[in-house]
This record gives sequence, structure tokens and C-alpha cells, in this order.
Amino acid sequence: MNVKVLGAANEVGRSGFLVDCNGTKLLLDYGVMFGKRGTPPQYPIHVKPKDLDAVIITHAHLDHSGNVPSLFVSGNTDVYATPPTFDLSKLLIEDMLKIEKYAHPFDLPEVNNMMRNAKEIGFKQKITKGGATFELRESGHVIGGSTILVESEKKRLFYTGDIKTNGSRMLREMDLDIGEIDLLITESTYAKTEQRPRRETESDLIEFANEVMDRKGVLFIPSFSVERSQEIACVLRNSNFKHRIIMDGMALKVNEIMFRHPEYLRDPKVFSEAIKSATAVREHSERKRAIEEPCVVISPAGMLVGGNAIYYLQQLSFDSKNGIALVSYQGEGTPGKKLLDTGKVSTRGKDLTVTAKVRQFEFSGHADRNELFEMIKQIKGNPKVCTVHGDSESCEIFAREIHERFGLETLSPAVNDEITV
Ligand SMILES: [Zn+2]
Ligand SMILES: [Zn+2]
Repeated sequence: MNVKVLGAANEVGRSGFLVDCNGTKLLLDYGVMFGKRGTPPQYPIHVKPKDLDAVIITHAHLDHSGNVPSLFVSGNTDVYATPPTFDLSKLLIEDMLKIEKYAHPFDLPEVNNMMRNAKEIGFKQKITKGGATFELRESGHVIGGSTILVESEKKRLFYTGDIKTNGSRMLREMDLDIGEIDLLITESTYAKTEQRPRRETESDLIEFANEVMDRKGVLFIPSFSVERSQEIACVLRNSNFKHRIIMDGMALKVNEIMFRHPEYLRDPKVFSEAIKSATAVREHSERKRAIEEPCVVISPAGMLVGGNAIYYLQQLSFDSKNGIALVSYQGEGTPGKKLLDTGKVSTRGKDLTVTAKVRQFEFSGHADRNELFEMIKQIKGNPKVCTVHGDSESCEIFAREIHERFGLETLSPAVNDEITV
């Protein structure tokens, strides 16, 4: 078995791994990496659809799914993923095409073509292609999100995609009952970082929300539309939060998708009660009315880049009664990061100091350092380990530490590297 690294090497983004099982070729993920401000997106190394037997998508995030339609420009191939992954990928890719300034090498017809070649599979459903068998396992990272097991000629590959080993309020924990492994490709996003226990972060957020309500303010929670928004709504509702919770923007479409796939949720009832009790806001007039009384507003974008977040920010930032809770990762150069670092937002070209109380809460969808090492500990066999999907320091340190602690052969590969087992 041979794996060629097409992307996500010493970087977070554009995941892509080409697995050659004695002539049967499987592509695991094919994502994009969005450029820093003003630079075009980057893609994994090009592969031709006619050279592939199948593409398997671990989950809908664009750094894993965003470039799959490019395989349908001049050809096609079978695409395998869970039903929620297909629904969400379609939504996120179409949204990317709508908002991205730079042209992608494909457009809506290719997205439709991808969907026509979609083969929906559930967890643990084994698929055989030529000399290879593969299956998806639960990843705990996002709804429908999976890891991939590939088996060929008695060699077994385990690719984590993105994982949250403990799961979350919405999702069950990662499935690690996978048998002996010969090659492990693991994400390294937070290999250097320890996160606070989720329960503590949840109670901090609840306390902050109640504080803002007590002084008759509005709490704005800019949040990623996939899952984080729903998780926050569940956290607040479960704490017997008495005030209105408003949900706005693409999160509403994600709610619909999640309602369609209750079997992929940890507790469909908790989810359904929380979301049904929230108020959906779609029109500008509703938006204006909603924030006239104390409430919580959950709306994308998580890093305050575009969307209705701009409106809420302008309306709510300059009143000390209000609060802003940042619950998503804030990338360098984003308005969210600037707000955290300087306490300012740009409004009509001017930087203004925010008087609403701003706080950050850690609700990561990725395994932290402790969870990652716990996963490695649980993996059976003596696999060769590749650390990917992290900045170069995280990938290198993680590889070195795994070697030191477990004596396994490790590497943090570069793009184009090939690994054979
Ligand atoms: Zn992800
Ligand atoms: Zn990712």
C-alpha cells in the first residue's frame, strides 16, 4: 500500500491523500485552503478522475470536501460519504462559490455532477473496489463526520480526517474499535495545546449570558453555522436559559439538514427541543425587532467575516449593556481576531472601540493534545504514523513526541511525499 500526500502537509487546509492499493486508487478527501487576505485559495496536488477508483470524503468542512467538484470538470468518479456529509458539502461548496472573490476551477454544474455520482454509505458499511476494502467510522468532529479505514493485501490504513475523540453535546465520541493498524495518518491541529474541559467552558458561557440578560442587554454569539451554532443553542437551552435565543443565517439551513439525520446525533431529542425553541430570523425587519429586548443572537460568521454578523456588530457593539461571545477559532487577519486583540471593529472604514463586553470561549471541534495522545495509546499494532493537518511546528513536535513515547516510526510528511507500508 502506497500513500501520496497531496496536501494538509504542515498546514491546516487542502487535505488530500492518494492511496494506491496494488493498482486500485482511492482519494481520501480533496479540500481547499483559503488564502490569507487578498491571496487566492490553494488546492491539493492535481489528480485526474480517470486515474481514480473512488473518492471518499471524511466530512463536509471545505478543507476536506471543497475541491471534490474539480474532479467532475472533464470526467467523473464515484464519491463516497455519509448522507449528512453530502448534504452539508453541497451547502458549503455552493456558499463558497457564491461568496469567494476568486474563481474556482469549477462551478455549480460540477457540484451537481458530484452529487449525481454520490454514493451514500453509513458507518461500518464495508465497500470493496478492486483490491481494496474501505469503511467509515464515527469521528466525533461534525455531524456525519468520519474517519476512514482502508484494507488491502493484509495492510490496514487508518486516516483520522478531523477528530474530536470525546465528541460533544451533539455528537457521540470517536469510534476507536478498529483493530490493528499498519499506517496511521492523524490530524495534528491542537497537538501543542491543552483545552479546558468542555463543561467548564459551557458554564462560563451560561454565566456570561445570564450576566448580560441581567443588565437587559443582548448577547451576540458569532458562530460557525455548522454545528457550533446548534451546540451553543443546546448548551443555553439545557441550562434553563429563560430568554429568547435567535438563530440567523446559514445556521438555519444546517438545522434543517441536522433534523433530516437524527441517527447521526448523540441525543436527537435534546437537539430538537433546543432548536425548536429558538427563534429563526430570516428577514431584515425581524432582525431589527429581535434585538429590541434582551436575547441571545447566534449568527455566522464565526470570525465576523461578512454575513449578518456585520449588522449585529454595528447594532450591538457600542452599548456597554451588551456582550459579544466569540466561540469559534479566530484566524489571523480576521475581524474577530482584531476585536479580540485591539477591542476595535471597523465600521464604514473607521476603527471604533467596542464598549460591549467581549469574551472568548473555547468550543473546539478538534481533539486537544491530551485527547490526541489518548487516541494514539488506544491504537493497536505498531503503525507507521504520519502527522498532518497542523502548522509545521505542531506536525513536527507531534511526530517527535509520538516516537519518543511509543517508539513508533513517525514522520511529518511534505506535499508530494510518498509513504509505503
Ligand atoms: Zn473539519
Ligand atoms: Zn480540517
